Amino acid sequence: MLIAPFRNEPFDLFDTESAKADMQQALKKVRAEFGKTYPLVINGERVQTEATLVSTNPSNPDEIVGYTAKATTRHADAALEAAWAAFESWKRWSQEDRSRVMLKAAAIMRRRKRELEAWLVYEIGKNYVEASAEVAEMIDFTEYYARQAIRHVGGLGSLIDYSGEENESFYVPLGVGVTISPWNFPMALMTGMTVGAIVVGNTVVCKPAEDTVVSLAKIFDIFAEAGLPPGVVNYLPGTGREIGSYLVAHPKTRFINFTGSLATGAQINESAAKLAEGQKWFKRVFLELGGKDAILVDETANLDDAATAAIQAAFGYSGQKCSACSRLIVVDSVYDALLEKVVAKTKELVVSEAKDNPSFGPVCNELQYKKVLSYIDIGHTEGKLLTGGKAVENAAGYLIEPTIFGDVSPRARIAQEEVFGPFVAAIRVKDFDEGLAVVNDTVYGLTGALFSNDRSRIERARRDFHVGNLYFNRKCTGALVGVQPFGGFNLTGTDTKTGGPDYLLQFLQMKAVAERL
Ligand code: NAD
Repeated sequence: MLIAPFRNEPFDLFDTESAKADMQQALKKVRAEFGKTYPLVINGERVQTEATLVSTNPSNPDEIVGYTAKATTRHADAALEAAWAAFESWKRWSQEDRSRVMLKAAAIMRRRKRELEAWLVYEIGKNYVEASAEVAEMIDFTEYYARQAIRHVGGLGSLIDYSGEENESFYVPLGVGVTISPWNFPMALMTGMTVGAIVVGNTVVCKPAEDTVVSLAKIFDIFAEAGLPPGVVNYLPGTGREIGSYLVAHPKTRFINFTGSLATGAQINESAAKLAEGQKWFKRVFLELGGKDAILVDETANLDDAATAAIQAAFGYSGQKCSACSRLIVVDSVYDALLEKVVAKTKELVVSEAKDNPSFGPVCNELQYKKVLSYIDIGHTEGKLLTGGKAVENAAGYLIEPTIFGDVSPRARIAQEEVFGPFVAAIRVKDFDEGLAVVNDTVYGLTGALFSNDRSRIERARRDFHVGNLYFNRKCTGALVGVQPFGGFNLTGTDTKTGGPDYLLQFLQMKAVAERL
């Protein structure tokens, strides 16, 4: 099979009038489809239910983007059964044939790029560039894993020779998994978690976040159009509490691929560890959870570059990225100068409805909105408000001003807990050494960045800045598939390193076979 080498899909910066007009056209087209109802998909069959989930536009919550059927535990049983039935034939497909279906799906995604981006603008409030970057990342995961899977065929080629025997080892898929995704990168994360598992022969039941059921219905249609056999992926919108937890605890679930919050991840880890009646395996659990990511700036840094990067990493997509900069840790001698630049740049940001392509749009839902505002209340007791600090006045949607609190203690709640909104805690430290200690003083360990021009400090941070994804003199968001494998340390999760060369091995087990000659 001849496939071109992997290349990251470019995303659009919308810096031309024609790109903007193109997007506005797509937004209009998508808007005309508002209010439709999308079914569950079990074994390739579309299943409607009486109860529905409603998805609204966070820029204007009175607008209904669409509805989906809402799964019950009976549907979850049926989906797992369908996935096990499909596994029997899917695991026997040649690797080339399985990869080919993924490449076809990626090609369809690429053709429908603008429309998919427009759904993200409306359903979760991304501006145009963020929506484009997410669709590009989804295509990247699909293309990259299709190629990586071919690498694993045949297993290890270098076993030790043992006289009188012929030995071999090869990989086999695990069985049926459950993929559960959060709302902030619905297309990229659900697609990545799902394609990674199925491309090597597993089958899955997919439970999307409640806020993103329309965007993902579009993607599951694409898998069907690409020729994925019925039952290989089963689309099961439902609530996390009812359907997510039921799937996790189910004895027929072989593995769980989860991205979401620490609180939910901890529950899943505990539930999956218990043996249910009739269960024949220990479940594998993959967890990619929250962060409290830091940018550390020392006195040798270029402060203009650091300020620009801090703004981009803190406020891109309203700070609703697991990798977002939520702690800005600055050495005392440049603290005031840096914060002055950061605050000035923050004041230039435009916050409005996502369809108008502002610097950033709303937070995703009412729960997030209330949560971020409650952290602003806490901020007033723990730091000094430098800018922002309230909801955008007279806005229909969940719009919050970019907010920075200064002189926050490293152990304050706003310096320790994940806020997941346009919210930064700035922390003053004596010197680089104290800064590095503060960086590592959280339960998380996802991303981080150091701005410094001191070579020995960069090398120390390379070893001691304890995060899964570390950046020097650039922002701490925007990891690229295949370029920066992504995953965190400590309570950020099991460090699966999505988009990395070893990711697919997690969904395989090795069989070793010996024959006496
Ligand atoms: P969440 O944990 O509330 O929900 C995630 C998913 O889990 C949803 O589909 C939800 O329905 C489901 N769920 C809820 N309770 C469940 C239960 N008891 N059993 C099984 N499933 C259940 O997270 P969220 O608010 O959707 O997403 C934001 C979080 O995700 C943030 O903490 C963010 O840092 C994290 N995140 C991490 C990464 C990463 O790669 N580390 C990437 C994106 C988001």
